[in-house]
Amino acid sequence: MAKKQFKTESKRILDLMINSIYTHKEIFLREIISNASDAIDKRCYVALSEGAQGFDRTDFKIRVELDKERRTVTVSDNGIGMTKEELEENLGTIAKSGSLSFKENLSEEEKAEKEIDIIGQFGVGFYSAFMVADKVTVTTKSLKDDQAHVWESTGVDGYTIRECIKDEVGTTIVMYIKPNTEDEVYDEFLRPYRIKGIIKKYSDYVRYPIVMPEEKTIEGSDAKYFEDEVVNSMVPIWQRGKSEVTDEECNSFYKETFYDMNDPCKVIRINAEGSLNYKAMLFIPSKAPMTYYTKEYQKGLSLYTSSVMIMERCEQLLPEHFRFVKGVVDSDNLSLNISREILQHDRQLKQIANNLEKKIKSELKKLMTSEREKYESFFTEFGLQLKYGVVSDYGVHKDQLSDLLLYYSSLTDSLVSLEEYVSAMPDGQKYIYYARGESVSKINLLPQAETVKEKGYGILYLTDDVDEFVVNILGTFMEKEFKNINDKDLGLETDEEKQEAEKKEEENKELLDFVKEALGGEVEFVRISHKLKSHSVCLTSEGEVTLEMEKYFKSLPGEKENAIKARRVLELNGEHHAFEALKKAFETDKEKAGKLSKILYTQALLIADMPIENAVEFAQLVSELM
Ligand code: ADP
Repeated sequence: MAKKQFKTESKRILDLMINSIYTHKEIFLREIISNASDAIDKRCYVALSEGAQGFDRTDFKIRVELDKERRTVTVSDNGIGMTKEELEENLGTIAKSGSLSFKENLSEEEKAEKEIDIIGQFGVGFYSAFMVADKVTVTTKSLKDDQAHVWESTGVDGYTIRECIKDEVGTTIVMYIKPNTEDEVYDEFLRPYRIKGIIKKYSDYVRYPIVMPEEKTIEGSDAKYFEDEVVNSMVPIWQRGKSEVTDEECNSFYKETFYDMNDPCKVIRINAEGSLNYKAMLFIPSKAPMTYYTKEYQKGLSLYTSSVMIMERCEQLLPEHFRFVKGVVDSDNLSLNISREILQHDRQLKQIANNLEKKIKSELKKLMTSEREKYESFFTEFGLQLKYGVVSDYGVHKDQLSDLLLYYSSLTDSLVSLEEYVSAMPDGQKYIYYARGESVSKINLLPQAETVKEKGYGILYLTDDVDEFVVNILGTFMEKEFKNINDKDLGLETDEEKQEAEKKEEENKELLDFVKEALGGEVEFVRISHKLKSHSVCLTSEGEVTLEMEKYFKSLPGEKENAIKARRVLELNGEHHAFEALKKAFETDKEKAGKLSKILYTQALLIADMPIENAVEFAQLVSELM
């Protein structure tokens, strides 16, 4: 019999399949089973629309059989079947709508890459059988035709179609599994355990039973027989109504599917109807996995279409800042088929992703207001991620994320949101004050915090490296500007007070210049402080780079020497007796004044938790003056 040739594009895909370097060859079974399920759908539809008597959905099943000796995997269904013309049409051509044509302008390498991508993401249906088989036969009898046919192909060299005998309506596909090669073990697809695993993984929720014969022994004898065992569970948890699923079930589904020992912090269920139909079951974990803040962690949601998994981890469905979310999305609008424009998939996915992002955001906000304790523990685990989200991509997500942030406040001794902070601001408070430090307790001791606290204003304690970048990018919140308590002007003084301080600085100009000189270029400025009360000194900075940033840059590998430095400012408390002593020494004993300058500066370094260069010299100076 003359062999027929595949259409050109089919040939290309087929060639790619046969020589595929694609690692997930196991998906061939998902494709074949999904076709079988579709065929049963069609038969059910015909039966229902013709008002068939005695119609029963439970009559339908998909059977998977393995034969080790013949090296075959057989998948049969009692679906609608195919006529000769349909066989010709469906299995002689692939990519009917020309999904590959949009790639005409790409280079060969890019094309190959894109094609593999397509296999991975959406499958190419029937032809994927050639990834594991060197011969495939399709025996089929259509509901519309009494004559059955068998289609046979060994790959690129074409196919044949012959008449044959088949009693039942439906389709049986036999895949002759390739021999093992040096790099690939194909035998695994002949092992029942492995095949069951693949079915469970990708096709668990196919609506019809997928059965495999299971060997049984008659009790009290050696006699063996085979009994059909249903491998798939058929109804996915996310397809069941909210009221039908207990929290327990949700939790154990989460733990089993996403390998977490802890119950999720929050379960989000979405049932979207309208232009886009999809159901989603999302989980916010209660603990960040060990690998979370490393490259090893991979984000993504499992993507299903009509209850068949098409992608285990679809990254496009989640924005980076919510990459901790796990879950499942199931949409009827997506197709397993390459023959639809792939760009269209992208657009729909994008739309779903947008909706999910909004939903996750609003659920987190809800959690923050109604279940505060839970939210705080979530924030402890993933708050850093949200902060990274604020500063990433030049801050485009900042408005969406800023109201999810929590910081310790000096006023409440507890975590507050920016909104809570601003709403509690007394009349007259112009700024959102913040201080950066290693820990809450260390910031609490900073001398420069005194004036702000004395006014009864709260200070937000920023304890993560990224926090200063966060407030820089935010700039304002609810129209209030952020203000570092190290800032020269904290906006706390009246004009008179300011003039007073300026006058004092003017009067002591010589002394201040002397101190700067004595410190040998360590500091950019020496000033009379506006913000010290009981302390004698503090160290602040001027310009973009703060002391905390300097510390951070220094901590980066290889940056120790060339790290960006803050422009240091030594602030002296003009009302403090230490200042009086310094002034006196300046007038009578310059050498002593120089030593006192060094002592004061080193104290400021210590308080600011900055490294001191010569601890021994400091110790000696102190002893000497005692
Ligand atoms: P698709 O993604 O459209 O299913 P395939 O290459 O997998 O693409 O299959 C092509 C067509 O072959 C299907 O659309 C269907 O019409 C037909 N087909 C495949 N398998 C079966 C089957 N088991 N029973 C009936 N028709 C089938």
